[in-house]
Amino acid sequence: MAVLDQLSSQQAMDLENKYGAHNYHPLPVVLSKGKGVYVWDVEGKQYYDFLSAYSAVNQGHCHPKIVEAMTTQAQTLTLTSRAFYNDMLGRFEKYATTYFGFDKLLPMNTGAEAVETALKICRRWAYQEKGIDENQAEIIVCENNFHGRTTTIISFSNDPVARKNFGPYTQGFIKIDYNNLEALEAALKNNPNVAGFLVEPIQGEAGVYVPTEGYLQKAKALCEKYNVLFIADEVQTGIARTGKLLACDHENVKPNILILGKALSGGAYPVSAVLANDDIMDVITPGSHGSTFGGNPVAAAVAMAALDVVKEENLADNAETLGQLFRAEINNYIAESNIVKLVRGKGLLNAIVINDDEESETAWNICLALRDNGLLAKPTHGNIIRFAPPLVMDKAQLLDCVSIIIKTLKAFEK
Ligand SMILES: *Cc1c(COP(=O)(O)O)cnc(C)c1O
Repeated sequence: MAVLDQLSSQQAMDLENKYGAHNYHPLPVVLSKGKGVYVWDVEGKQYYDFLSAYSAVNQGHCHPKIVEAMTTQAQTLTLTSRAFYNDMLGRFEKYATTYFGFDKLLPMNTGAEAVETALKICRRWAYQEKGIDENQAEIIVCENNFHGRTTTIISFSNDPVARKNFGPYTQGFIKIDYNNLEALEAALKNNPNVAGFLVEPIQGEAGVYVPTEGYLQKAKALCEKYNVLFIADEVQTGIARTGKLLACDHENVKPNILILGKALSGGAYPVSAVLANDDIMDVITPGSHGSTFGGNPVAAAVAMAALDVVKEENLADNAETLGQLFRAEINNYIAESNIVKLVRGKGLLNAIVINDDEESETAWNICLALRDNGLLAKPTHGNIIRFAPPLVMDKAQLLDCVSIIIKTLKAFEK
């Protein structure tokens, strides 16, 4: 069989099952094409994408401007490593630091790498600037966090599936309840070894938990009071997803360290970044951190185009408007149904909680039925389904999606 022969969905799934490690449990659908808010399976059936590759494809599938930037750069220069300068990285660094309002940027590839980078910067800052004794620095994290899958990151996860039999774990983390300022202050108080507080402005993977309004602002104020870095993981919430450029912008909070990934490339290429001002970023010196592919010319070109699209197409405002509409429509349905407990979210990062116990198969079965009805979504945890379409959606498309979702849910009413 030639590599490019047309496969049936079943053949493609069989190949992955037989030859691929089983580190995911995909919804059974095999996609071979995407454009804007739509994807198509190998049999040609069209779907609305309501996951957007976990919010990496905010700008829509195969956005022409991003594809153009990528292919042009790919034909010119793809990789030099950072052993040499290239003529794209500096442009991207200037563009993105101006765009987000920081002095400096450190480019990486994946979200998890960017989180690791932020943790390293925070620890160095703790020893060199704050004056914590070597190896004593501690970083506060939240229960039910999701920051990626590396050894250090799973060390402070509390997801048993992500952790079991991957020990021994990395030390130096304190876990507190999310959305709990008393717990944060208790952890900060009387502990001079705390270097940072790592937080998702909305907990996406955990099930789109939106903290109480004012939480981020007060948490940042507490961090300032105790001279601790406020580190925002906006890998999923950033780049217009929640109705503002950053989810922290809803509370006018400026993190000391900002972590971006996913939609930084519009889903075209792995690009992540850590941003901070000079007083923090300058702890990084030659040799202390790096990545062969981080900051390569294709990544730089793609990221600039992807960020351009966000502004040119007003994606943050669109996410805000459509998000309000989405929650209003779903709430109308909830008022007269017993299958959905609630809808929550900000902008176009939303989730519904199914009225069933956490171990039930209902959410998964609803996602299978949504697929059959032409819309792709996936449960996050247990009975929670996340809805995060590309931000280039229009109002008519959103209402079409709402009717697919409601029609599907109605079939599950008891
Ligand atoms: C997806 C995600 C990550 C990890 O990104 P990868 O590119 O999968 O390594 C980190 N933090 C948050 C909040 C995420 O949603």
